[in-house]
Amino acid sequence: MGVINVLDKHVAELIAAGEVVERPASAIKEMIENSIDAGSSDITVEIQNGGITFMRVTDNGCGIMRDDVKLAFLPHATSKIKLENDLDRISTLGFRGEALSSISSVSRLQLLTRNENEDIGISYEIDGGEEVSFDDAGCPVGTTIIVRDLFYNIPARMKFLKKDRAEGNAVANVIDKIALSHPEIAFTFIRDGKRVLNTSGDGKIKSAIYSVYGRDFANGLIPVNYELNGITVKGYISKPVNARPNRSMQNFFINGRYVKSVTAMAAIEEACKGNVMVGKFPACVLHISIPFEAIDVNVHPSKIEVRFINERPVFDAVYHAVKTSLNNNDERKSVTFNNARNDNAFSEIKKPKPFVTTPAVFEKKEEKKSDPFAYLNEAIKSSKPIKSFNPSVSNFNSPTDIYSKEAVRREADIEHKIQENINRTKPEDTVIVSKSKNELNIPDEELIVNETKEVVEKEPEPLYAQPKNKLTFLGEAFKTYILVEKNDKEIIIIDKHAAHERMIYERLKKERGAGFTQVLLQPITVTLNKNDYESAISNLDMFKECAFDIEDFGNGSLIVRGAPQYLDISDIESSVIEMAGYIAQNKKDIRSEKMDWIYHNVACRAAIKGGNISTREELIDIANKLDEDPTLRYCPHGRPVCMVLSRYELEKQFGRV
Ligand code: ADP
Ligand code: MG
Repeated sequence: MGVINVLDKHVAELIAAGEVVERPASAIKEMIENSIDAGSSDITVEIQNGGITFMRVTDNGCGIMRDDVKLAFLPHATSKIKLENDLDRISTLGFRGEALSSISSVSRLQLLTRNENEDIGISYEIDGGEEVSFDDAGCPVGTTIIVRDLFYNIPARMKFLKKDRAEGNAVANVIDKIALSHPEIAFTFIRDGKRVLNTSGDGKIKSAIYSVYGRDFANGLIPVNYELNGITVKGYISKPVNARPNRSMQNFFINGRYVKSVTAMAAIEEACKGNVMVGKFPACVLHISIPFEAIDVNVHPSKIEVRFINERPVFDAVYHAVKTSLNNNDERKSVTFNNARNDNAFSEIKKPKPFVTTPAVFEKKEEKKSDPFAYLNEAIKSSKPIKSFNPSVSNFNSPTDIYSKEAVRREADIEHKIQENINRTKPEDTVIVSKSKNELNIPDEELIVNETKEVVEKEPEPLYAQPKNKLTFLGEAFKTYILVEKNDKEIIIIDKHAAHERMIYERLKKERGAGFTQVLLQPITVTLNKNDYESAISNLDMFKECAFDIEDFGNGSLIVRGAPQYLDISDIESSVIEMAGYIAQNKKDIRSEKMDWIYHNVACRAAIKGGNISTREELIDIANKLDEDPTLRYCPHGRPVCMVLSRYELEKQFGRV
């Protein structure tokens, strides 16, 4: 006897339902899309227990006609298409006719609806796909659907649901995206009795962004408004300085539908080259309108991916749209020496941190008479606040120093490295860009400055010696390598960033963040997407073990009260976003693997950077610690931390032995 059975209708329906309705968020998405297709201008969503026990979507759309009510719940029943040809010009969000039949077969559902042409409405109840009642009901024009006890009749599915909070956040995430995609509709979202979102429906994308992501985020945006060959691109992109460490806040909507578009991501990436640091991604809310014939929405059942008949025009439109907006809003202050000639400019020169001069200068460069910047050095030397420090300091702290080639490159290296880790763990994000320092758009004149700095003529004196190790500090090369002499036998060259990184990493790991937290004078709030937020608040202990003091600030935000020592204030927000994103993405990793990644990441950011100025004490401290603990010889990424040049090797080179 054969083994193949034709499944009975009920089982087949349950399987089909499982594909459309995976969790409360997917049911909510389908119901809201129906409300939008019905022409609603006001949609209210309410959920309890993450939507598992209760979901209600109320709209003021056209309603369903009495004769259509039962039909709407049959599989493949739709009012949106009739013929094959209609598939080529779908402008509605739904068209498969699966949602209502699926949701009603896996829940207890009640529909209240009144069509605009009818005087009396209908109340229709279905339990697990079986009709319970069909009655007249007094109700306003529009539709309300109440879904109770999702998956009550498929316990196997029920098991796959996450905690109420996670399911609720997934619903919130869906509503956020839909609210951003339809600013002309007023959305209200009530979660366990609390109103958590309310958009105005005034048609302005910015208003929707304000409601969804908050004021700070909305204020850091640049408008985008562009048309190219029939494709329009409208919306907002974050200012380059507000770029984020991952792409989780890049929102693309194509013809009103939230999509993941690799093409659009790549176009933004390309357009931002030179404006946004390597490894950073601008946040955006971009509405792309394309003639309906040019896209195939029938690709993915949840319709989150779109396929363009031709990718190029979309790429070009997004690229030029973003590029044009960035050019129009270039607020970067270029620090040039003409500014410095102006007296006021000196008040802007930051007081350098007191530090002892670096004596590692083995070669004296001739100061060129024609040096166009010589007057600045002179001016700095004679300017009061700076004069109180060692005069050589001023040469290293010209306002342009932050733009030194080396600093830019090292910075980019670090960023790139962090990004590599992220990319490695996010296979779906395939767009990886690399930018060279030349693409950072820094005019050549500014780069030259650092090379023309005056060099201190001073013999390196043996500055530091610890009898125990006979370690003598010689100095620092290229603002990156510490040079020490040991026991009269060898010269050790230490990469200061790699060494410091390794030390921080070991300490975080060993002490699990204890005693490494620095309290912030001003707490920082960090806004996350709902998914990352959920992961973050369920893993606050991980942040703690990394020396962060973070609390849930509600509705997608965290408040950071303390952060690891050495971590720059400006790095705190992106570190937290990155960690949350990583934890969310790598749920399956065992905890220690996750912690390890986080320790690496924090250590890399917190460590002093090659190319940046360090105090002599800092450098000596690093050299001593490294010498005391040979296990620190490699950075957490596996690169060597130091190199040894033996006296014998050196003497051999000079033909002495
Ligand atoms: P689809 O959206 O793919 O057509 P659904 O199962 O989601 O299929 O809905 C079936 C039909 O029920 C829709 O085509 C529409 O005519 C009607 N409908 C569903 N929800 C609403 C609503 N909120 N307002 C008006 N009509 C609705
Ligand atoms: Mg639908």
